Amino acid sequence: MNHFVPIPSTVPMTNKLLSDDQGHRLGKGVKSVATALISGSVKKGRGQLAGLLRREQLYPVFQPIASLEEGAIFSHEALIRGPANTSLHAPDALLQAAAQENLNHEFENHCVSAALDLWGCLNRPGRLFVNISADALLALIRQCGCDSLLSLVGVMGVSPRMLVLEITEYERVADMDQLAIVVQRVRAAGVALALDDFGDGRSSLRLWSQIKPEYVKIDKYFTKAISRHADKLKTIQALQQIAAIFDTALIAEGIETEDDLRVLRDLGIRYGQGFFLGRPARLPHEQIDAAAMTVIRDRTVAVFPELRRAPSAGSLSRFTMIQAPTCDLSTTNDQLARLLFNHPKLHAIAVVDGARPVAIINRAAFLNEYSKLYYREIWGNKSCMLHANLEPRLIERNHNIDDLVGILTSDDQRYLADGFIVTENGRYQGLGTGEHLVRSVTETRIEAARHANPLTFLPGNIPITQHIERLLASGVAFFACYADLNNFKPFNDQYGYWRGDEMIRLLARLTQAHCDPRRDFVGHVGGDDFILLYQSEDWQSQCQQIIDEFAQQAVALFDAPARAAGGIQAEDRFGVVRFFPLTTLSIGAVSINPHQFVNAEQVASVAALAKHHAKTEGKGLVVRNGTDR
Ligand code: C2E
Ligand code: MG
Ligand code: MG
Repeated sequence: MNHFVPIPSTVPMTNKLLSDDQGHRLGKGVKSVATALISGSVKKGRGQLAGLLRREQLYPVFQPIASLEEGAIFSHEALIRGPANTSLHAPDALLQAAAQENLNHEFENHCVSAALDLWGCLNRPGRLFVNISADALLALIRQCGCDSLLSLVGVMGVSPRMLVLEITEYERVADMDQLAIVVQRVRAAGVALALDDFGDGRSSLRLWSQIKPEYVKIDKYFTKAISRHADKLKTIQALQQIAAIFDTALIAEGIETEDDLRVLRDLGIRYGQGFFLGRPARLPHEQIDAAAMTVIRDRTVAVFPELRRAPSAGSLSRFTMIQAPTCDLSTTNDQLARLLFNHPKLHAIAVVDGARPVAIINRAAFLNEYSKLYYREIWGNKSCMLHANLEPRLIERNHNIDDLVGILTSDDQRYLADGFIVTENGRYQGLGTGEHLVRSVTETRIEAARHANPLTFLPGNIPITQHIERLLASGVAFFACYADLNNFKPFNDQYGYWRGDEMIRLLARLTQAHCDPRRDFVGHVGGDDFILLYQSEDWQSQCQQIIDEFAQQAVALFDAPARAAGGIQAEDRFGVVRFFPLTTLSIGAVSINPHQFVNAEQVASVAALAKHHAKTEGKGLVVRNGTDR
């Protein structure tokens, strides 16, 4: 018995919405597939779902999928529904009932058929996305063949080119190769493919690569609150790179808010779907909801969330070690001395047993002994192990540099003289010194600070540059404000760096409090330099408030005599003691017309120039035009 044949649906609930002509075509559709039989299990089934299938009480609703660049509706997804106000209204409940009543494939085929049937009657432009599990698709093609599926599509009045099969539950498929073959046959007939809910469960990257679907729908987990989660944003950016390799268009599912929509649009995700754009409805939407259209038309550039932790310094493998020769257990003192003379820069030498390092010999300590009177005559032919440190510090190449900082601060200071031996899987690789380690840690810390400032956790120079470039590319006008403290150095010298850090954190708090996080960007260039990139119209009053509130609150960081005197006595940069007023804030602001700037560096330099004017003029806020020099 062929129980996989789709059941034609007359969609009784929506029929009244259709015109006569459409109703006629619907009738034809039903007639043409009249050979399709309701399977025995549906006919005989006693369960609730079997009853719904027999009475044809399931119907599709349609949710729009729109271009995030223009807001035009590009397609609709058909989603099945059971009778309203019953426990079998939602698809999840229907799918569960189908599993319980052993009607999985019948149910899914019915959904496809119902969606095609109604869509064909509605005769609307745009594509139709139809859900089908990989399992059901395999079974359908196996039972009916690809041609019968396509003839059903045709009979329903849908062009295969307008149909997209949205494959769900693909990660459960045991035979991926078989699925890839089936899917290619469907595609050869002009039907496009989408992978649904990518990122949910064990989504198969392999399947993406194998079938290269036209669309991949990113699971709503990744879009939900993307405007606040840098890790989700980075994940989507990684998916975009994969999508570019396979030439796949991405669709972001589950867009529920204005902020998430703006971020996804600015990321360059091609299509989106979600309650904010349009809820599933009995009839296809003419256009997306007005609020979503307003966001898409508004050119305000989204501020991307930034990772608030500095990236890890990485592993030791990134730093250059000394490719030093070794000696072994049988090496004599004379041989070792020759080796050291031939390599005058070596600070130490490792002793290996096979490939395994067992000791380290310090150059200075060894040569000190070796140069003593009669040493060579007595000890020259003896093993060099006499001078070896049998407990060398061994460090594996993949060791995390952050953890190695502990070595620098530990009580065991032997590394200062001997350095350490670098190994890979316990095998000798080379030598490293404490100096190397310090340099490497410092460099990686500086690099990390370029991403996120370790004191304020605000974005550093790299994200600042990226944001300016995004603003310039979008063509929107904005204001670049450079904030800098006046008389900060004497304060820092007088009260120490701890209170200096407090003052910088105060500035970080105030700048953030006076920015709209959705459209204004705060970056920490370093030290007491901050950059504010405003798209908010009230930017000028916000800047003024930062300056005023800073002046009020910074006073509390001075001691009582300084507060009473209105400043402190401290040395200036020439070593002359003089009076410095309490620390205040200057902001140099520049209006940026993006067409006058080529890159972020130019914007940063005009903003720095404006700050310079603000400081020399002794004013809080100085506003300049982007073309002023
Ligand atoms: P799906 O294919 O990923 O469909 C998207 C689901 O997300 C739909 O739920 C939709 O109503 C919901 N959704 C859309 N926008 C938003 C949003 O902004 N926020 C949130 N939280 N949800 C949103 P629905 O209709 O309940 O369908 C659930 C799942 O049931 C579908 O997930 C699909 O896997 C399955 N399904 C639905 N209709 C069919 C069908 O006709 N055939 C098959 N095989 N499965 C179906
Ligand atoms: Mg879907
Ligand atoms: Mg989905």
